[in-house]
Amino acid sequence: MISLPSDRAAIALTLTGAQLLQQLLPEVTLWLPADLANPGRVAPPGCQTYAGPLRDHLKHLWQSQQALIFCLATGAVVRLIAPLLQDKSRDPAVVVVDETGQFAISLCGGHRGGADQLARWVAARLGGEAVLTGASTGAGRVGVDVLGEPFGWRRGEGSDWDALSMALAHRQPVSVVQESGSRLWQSARSTEPWWLEADRSAAAQLLISHRAPPAQTYTALWHPRVLWLGIGCERGTPRVVLEQGIEQVLAAQGLAKQAVAGVATLDLKADEAGLVELCNAYDWPLRTLDAQTLSQVTVPNPSAVVTAAVGTPSVAEAAALVASEFGTLLVGKQIFRLPETQGAATIAVALAQRESTGRLGELLLVGTGPGSLDQVTPAARAALVRADAVIGYSLYIELIQPLLRPGQIVEALPITQERARAQRAIELAQWGLSVAVISSGDCGIYGMAGLVLEELRVQAWDGKTPTVAVFPGISALQSAASRLGAPLMQDFCAISLSDLLTPWAAIRERLEAAARADFVTTLYNPRSRSRIEPLSAAQQIFLQHRDPATPVALVRSAYRDSEQITRTTLAELPLEQVDMLTLVLIGNRSTRFYGDWLITPRGYLGFELGSEL
Ligand code: SAH
Repeated sequence: MISLPSDRAAIALTLTGAQLLQQLLPEVTLWLPADLANPGRVAPPGCQTYAGPLRDHLKHLWQSQQALIFCLATGAVVRLIAPLLQDKSRDPAVVVVDETGQFAISLCGGHRGGADQLARWVAARLGGEAVLTGASTGAGRVGVDVLGEPFGWRRGEGSDWDALSMALAHRQPVSVVQESGSRLWQSARSTEPWWLEADRSAAAQLLISHRAPPAQTYTALWHPRVLWLGIGCERGTPRVVLEQGIEQVLAAQGLAKQAVAGVATLDLKADEAGLVELCNAYDWPLRTLDAQTLSQVTVPNPSAVVTAAVGTPSVAEAAALVASEFGTLLVGKQIFRLPETQGAATIAVALAQRESTGRLGELLLVGTGPGSLDQVTPAARAALVRADAVIGYSLYIELIQPLLRPGQIVEALPITQERARAQRAIELAQWGLSVAVISSGDCGIYGMAGLVLEELRVQAWDGKTPTVAVFPGISALQSAASRLGAPLMQDFCAISLSDLLTPWAAIRERLEAAARADFVTTLYNPRSRSRIEPLSAAQQIFLQHRDPATPVALVRSAYRDSEQITRTTLAELPLEQVDMLTLVLIGNRSTRFYGDWLITPRGYLGFELGSEL
């Protein structure tokens, strides 16, 4: 899970509380006092126990965890954590849940700690409601101090986030100047506009840049990680030489160290101790490239000496350019030494178009059910909450709108562009975002799950990144059946009449087989404006094998406001009433209407019941 704080501990002091929080396993570690697990009192499986007062144990959890979820009175939690609170940029997220799981309160660390997000997730999992009291939530927009988190941006030095948040809380728009990084945050959900493009008269200024400008020019600063340092060095160059060299180069150009995405060098330097140590200290990835790759890059300062030594005319400049995916070379090769210290380094800096998120993305393939929110599973809700971006057909996004949260990137694409949708989702996940791809009904039944997995396979996916999780939903055949009664009590099948992805000959063959074998048959995608014949062909095929009086039902937009149900027979099926929002259900030999209820008797004695009706 990406968009929630990691290392989450949940704490309950009662068995009821423990049973409630157990529903959050395995995504949290559940802690119970040891005496709850005493002989005679059974602690739920998967729990950890602690001895002594909670106050003492909490000191340890406070240090080691990024988030704490308590099932305890809010007052008790406030007293417990009061002595531990230090700074909202470092304190863990604190969420409090009541014993019935009705409310998940974001108590502390709402934005930077991730408690708002965690409270939403907990509420979704427990079927309750998140209680969020921050001003940005009230205004239905993302918190500015977490704006860059999905993209791995770093907060700049000298930022006054409180001043920025205060301006917004007073409904004063903030001026935003963006010099680098993704502009995707602009498509984040927000109920009211909160920013202006570069307006010096605005109450507060937000700068999004790889530069480190003087503090008085902005209120707060985000640094997208767009700078790639290309580094070459003599064998045995110590970290201090590299570090001071980098600091000098960046300072001279007014570039921010927080905007560094990583270091690129020649593969021979993969084990260069000073370089490895430096990258570990700053958490910079070290990308190594072979001489062959580097020698193909055109650079401003090639060197014959370097070619003679390592087989490429450039290391620093070429490596920076390759790592930045051929962005802009901001700083050409600089040579750096320190007096009385061994070693020497060459440093170049390139600016990438797209920032590194430094995160592993994930794809959440979510089925959102037929349409009404109470038919969405808690797991699917939790997945929607945790996603940075939500991609799907506009109608389905519209239907689940209340489940989305401010700040989420929403990309609604037209219905015909399923493949484009799958590719876009993969691209964002490979970049590092947590992406929910939504389908109505079940995502693996004529849905997006298969398309996304197919596309991934085409791209020689390693099966690990991005990770993929599939969340089932209630498919149209189930929702339609539930509206009709119990028509799927015997063997049944689903056939899609859309010949966009399946040739008509194959569809025809399946229709014939289903009709002959007496399956109750549900027809998905039965008819579009331009595709009328398949449905009438299907009717004719079934008439060859079944009684003209066989019950047929048309369920249109089940569980949506415009739901419509038509009960008819095979012979009288009103073709013109059927459209793409309709599911057609054809009964088997023993299916009967009983009043308004459609029943397919269970088991082989069914025909007797059928004959009585
Ligand atoms: N993944 C979806 C199916 C998508 S194919 C699912 O599992 O339900 C689209 C077809 O599904 C539509 O043409 C229609 O036949 C059917 N369908 C989807 N939602 C429906 C609803 N709420 N009521 C009736 N039919 C529906």
